[in-house]
Amino acid sequence: MTPPLSLNSIAERLQGYDPQALSAKHVNDFLAQLVQPVREQDSVALMQAHGRILAQDVVSPISVPPHDNSAMDGYALRGSDLKTDRPSLLKVVGTALAGTAWPGQVQAGECVRIMTGAIMPTGLDTVAPQELVHVAGDTVQVPPGLLQAGDNRRLTGEDLMAGQPALRAGTRLSPAACGLLASLGLPTVPVWRRPKVAYFSTGDEILSLGQAPREGAVYDSNRYTVAGMVQALGCELIDMGVVRDEPAALEQAFRDAAAQADAIITSGGVSVGEADYTKAMMQKLGDVAFWRIAMRPGRPMAVGRISQGERAAVLFGLPGNPVAVMVTFAAFVRPALQQLMGWQAPAQPLLKAKSTETLRKKPGRTEYQRGIVSTNAAGELVVSTTGNQGSGVLSSMVQANGLIVLGHTQGNVAVGDEVEVMMFDGHL
Ligand code: AMP
Ligand code: MG
Repeated sequence: MTPPLSLNSIAERLQGYDPQALSAKHVNDFLAQLVQPVREQDSVALMQAHGRILAQDVVSPISVPPHDNSAMDGYALRGSDLKTDRPSLLKVVGTALAGTAWPGQVQAGECVRIMTGAIMPTGLDTVAPQELVHVAGDTVQVPPGLLQAGDNRRLTGEDLMAGQPALRAGTRLSPAACGLLASLGLPTVPVWRRPKVAYFSTGDEILSLGQAPREGAVYDSNRYTVAGMVQALGCELIDMGVVRDEPAALEQAFRDAAAQADAIITSGGVSVGEADYTKAMMQKLGDVAFWRIAMRPGRPMAVGRISQGERAAVLFGLPGNPVAVMVTFAAFVRPALQQLMGWQAPAQPLLKAKSTETLRKKPGRTEYQRGIVSTNAAGELVVSTTGNQGSGVLSSMVQANGLIVLGHTQGNVAVGDEVEVMMFDGHL
């Protein structure tokens, strides 16, 4: 494996890198070079594999389905026996049930009663659904023009052919992917170890739940939003609560976190003019850059690596404001953690929706506004904002179902203009 790049060498490779005015694109590009995927494998039972990331390509050991079989309850026949100008009359010579092969031979002009999933008897290639035919005694009448040779037959391997790749390494095991692996008869799967992500909040005004309210203090909401976002992605959370704004406490917390975790997320204490020790301690213990990002909300952010012995953890020092934490997580931390997980995540498509409002926007920064996407009477996607866009207003994150992303060069938006929206998809 290639050794990790220093922050300086990553910065040198990025055209136009300016830590005092970084574009959102620069941040993503920088993090893509900083983060190295966890490369340890676990083997897990398929029932425990949901949400995990596949560590190796899976080649189908068998074909699915393993035989040609019927897609309907009805009558299996030879397509060549079908008449196009009059009803076809066929004699029923047996019944093929799912789970066992019907052993007989079928002559021209004969058919076999067949159930869904049953193996197609030798020589037969078509199934007439039972709703389509008239049965009289042991004779079946198929009306002309309703059926073509090959209808209602599932072919061997039409889902997966033995020897062909079924899933690629880096795939997230969705319910559908788990079902697919089960259809191949695979009881265990190789997955990447889940990254461990340590989180703590900083700030002397931050109260843990259970503490009595006091003047000037606020309850720690970031701990809960970050915990939810980290776990929704499929990372393991190391929850470290609130760390006091004292050098010794911060140093201990960073060292503990780096000793166990693959990534450390903190909130608070990274803005300019902060009176606290968080930045100083990051600088002392790690290779850390302090950025001002051309975005709203969420301008300040610290990024780097903190080493402890042999290990190094990636650091994401997020701002303190609750909405800024969620937005910087969605825009930057989430893709970086996906890379850490080994997840070859398909690019998340942004939706385009018509704005129902005028939006004020200055070119030269990326803005993320909380939006509610819906469909109007004409069936078009439209988006409105949730109102108060203050970076501390969490209730507007709850109301929103997506973030309106107003790109770096974009100016004001008029009513009816199309804007891009990042949908929450249950992750935020
Ligand atoms: P800071 O980035 O430390 O300047 O914090 C910015 C704002 O976010 C301040 O109003 C803080 O009180 C608030 N804040 C910081 N951390 C938290 C937290 N963990 N939960 C809720 N609010 C916070
Ligand atoms: Mg603070």
